[in-house]
Amino acid sequence: MNSTIQPRPGIMDITPYQGGQATLDGITDPIKLSSNENPFGPPDAAKEAFRRAAHDLHRYPGSDHASLRRAIGDIHRLDPERVICGAGSDEIISLLCQTYAGPGDEVVHTEHGFAMYRISALAAGATPVEAAEHNRVIDVDAILAACTLRTRLVFVANPNNPTGTMIDAAGTERLAAGLPEQALLVLDGAYAEYIGGFDGGASLVENRGNVVMTRTFSKLHGLGGLRVGWGYGPAPVIDALNRVRGPFNLSTAQLDAAEAALRDRDHARTCREKNARMRAWLADALAGAGVPSDKSFANFILARFRDADEATACNAFLQSRGLIVRGTAGYKLPHCLRITIGDEAACRRVAAAIADFRKVPR
Ligand SMILES: *Cc1c(COP(=O)(O)O)cnc(C)c1O
Repeated sequence: MNSTIQPRPGIMDITPYQGGQATLDGITDPIKLSSNENPFGPPDAAKEAFRRAAHDLHRYPGSDHASLRRAIGDIHRLDPERVICGAGSDEIISLLCQTYAGPGDEVVHTEHGFAMYRISALAAGATPVEAAEHNRVIDVDAILAACTLRTRLVFVANPNNPTGTMIDAAGTERLAAGLPEQALLVLDGAYAEYIGGFDGGASLVENRGNVVMTRTFSKLHGLGGLRVGWGYGPAPVIDALNRVRGPFNLSTAQLDAAEAALRDRDHARTCREKNARMRAWLADALAGAGVPSDKSFANFILARFRDADEATACNAFLQSRGLIVRGTAGYKLPHCLRITIGDEAACRRVAAAIADFRKVPR
């Protein structure tokens, strides 16, 4: 091919995102604990809404997402006018980068932060900048020190993936207050639903002009396969993002199923409670086998091994037993494995396998 035809600078620096592994050679029904999916799936009402949408596949979806935004406003007590919906929160992250960062601009993310921040920054032509974490916890001072006059966006997942740790409201408040005036703070609340009563940073969005919150239906709501997420921010930010957003970025099936899932509060509560119970149980069981983890606020735990070799060997051992977890070497945590909290049977199988791997008597 004509070698003067080249992608824009930065594009070839992107390491393609790797989704959690889903299959194992030679094993028919592996247990997938690699993508932080809800083991119970969405409520029946969401599946029913998805099926109903099959009758109208010849119709374009609405482009203003009014009904889903209204539902989000009702349930989370937010202004629906300042909600934007996307194909997963990944699309909101990408829209933020395309809208606010370009060549010469910097996008700050944290040491063990979600891979899509760096990918979306590079895709927009901007320069990703990494801020150190402290013992796998986001360090507000390190982020503020990483900011310059070129910083346009600062991405913080709270709770963070893959660490599961979080910073308190005083921390996010101090971060928002300390940013340079041209920078927007993005609080990624993909796991906010796992914390009863936590608003994911919505009140900070309300109180300041420089904060956006992103949320998803992929985790607690059990709709990772459907691809629906949303953002909440100041009116001028949402207005700008909507100019870049494709008008038909979400299908009717996506919109209707997400709304049905959101309105089923009982299902969400049950999933949250089961997750909390099994998360505590699994963390205790692994600690008993000599594998510690930080207190997690999400639907996974980050198991810490003695070194990278032990983590790799344990991952292979788990696979031999049909268990798929997530290696975190790409997140600068080569000595760890991220394990999604499955149902009780899955958690018991992981705990038993790790105890056997460590040859701890049970
Ligand atoms: C899972 C996850 C998301 C959600 O991605 P979707 O595109 O909404 O599926 C966003 N941020 C973090 C930190 C995540 O772990």
